[in-house]
Amino acid sequence: MRLKEEVALVTGGGSGIGYAVVARFIAEGAHVGVLVKEEQDAHTLKQAFGDKVEVVVGDVRNYADNTKAVDATVARFGKLDCFVGNAGIWDFMAGLESQEVRLLESNYRELFDVNVKGYVLGAKASLAALRKSKGCMIFTASTSSFFTGGGGPLYIATKHAVLGFIRALAWELAPDIRVNGVAPGGTLTRIFGSQTAEDVSSMIAAITPLGFAAKPEDHAGIYALLASRTDGKFITGTVILNDGGISIGKRDKGIDI
Ligand code: NAD
Repeated sequence: MRLKEEVALVTGGGSGIGYAVVARFIAEGAHVGVLVKEEQDAHTLKQAFGDKVEVVVGDVRNYADNTKAVDATVARFGKLDCFVGNAGIWDFMAGLESQEVRLLESNYRELFDVNVKGYVLGAKASLAALRKSKGCMIFTASTSSFFTGGGGPLYIATKHAVLGFIRALAWELAPDIRVNGVAPGGTLTRIFGSQTAEDVSSMIAAITPLGFAAKPEDHAGIYALLASRTDGKFITGTVILNDGGISIGKRDKGIDI
């Protein structure tokens, strides 16, 4: 029970890594607000976690929706201790050369608005409540915050931006608010769109030194560590890689995702 009596807010918590973080935080004793885009995800969360969650449907690209999620969480559970920025989209490895300019511009807008602006607005919206609780922020970064090979240039640029944001914000908000990140490697979630779980799983397993694709719950304990006021209290400005070893080298250079 690392997070007993703590209150968190997770964006994109209706599926994948975000959902696993919600589940783990609740198992560790927390109450959790969740900002989701899809009504169906809101329904699933309420069914699974009942009165332990407060779910708001909205879009991380809108400041008003981020504020609504913070306000609803604080109104329901009395405070906010941890903001988890996690909602994100992928670019399906689209190269610069293959995208005609108008498509490139709209992909740029969408990827940067969701993956970067969404985190910036969520941080801004949760700041006052976190100052009050001397809480923390955690952002889902990626191996793509450090290396190429896990996305096209636009996705990789957004995740490099997330790394800079975490480090700069940790410096700005110390000593009151800790700011950290988790950098997952290839993980079986719906971010890969219509590609089948088997295909994604075998592609990731083939290139990952540990030989398997992560499941969302394989990352959740790291978020709990960073959110913990005891175990995480000296950690800020850090991004923890949880990537099956891919940062030390791909296992099979012949296969790429
Ligand atoms: P996912 O698709 O299951 O989760 C992403 C969530 O974000 C979804 O619930 C989606 O509805 C939500 N979302 C998307 N756009 C939104 C918007 N505009 N407003 C509100 N919510 C929105 O995929 P995931 O893999 O769990 O992704 C979570 C995070 O993990 C992302 O930031 C992603 O970049 C990162 N990540 C994933 C992997 C991987 O291999 N799956 C690897 C590294 C990093």
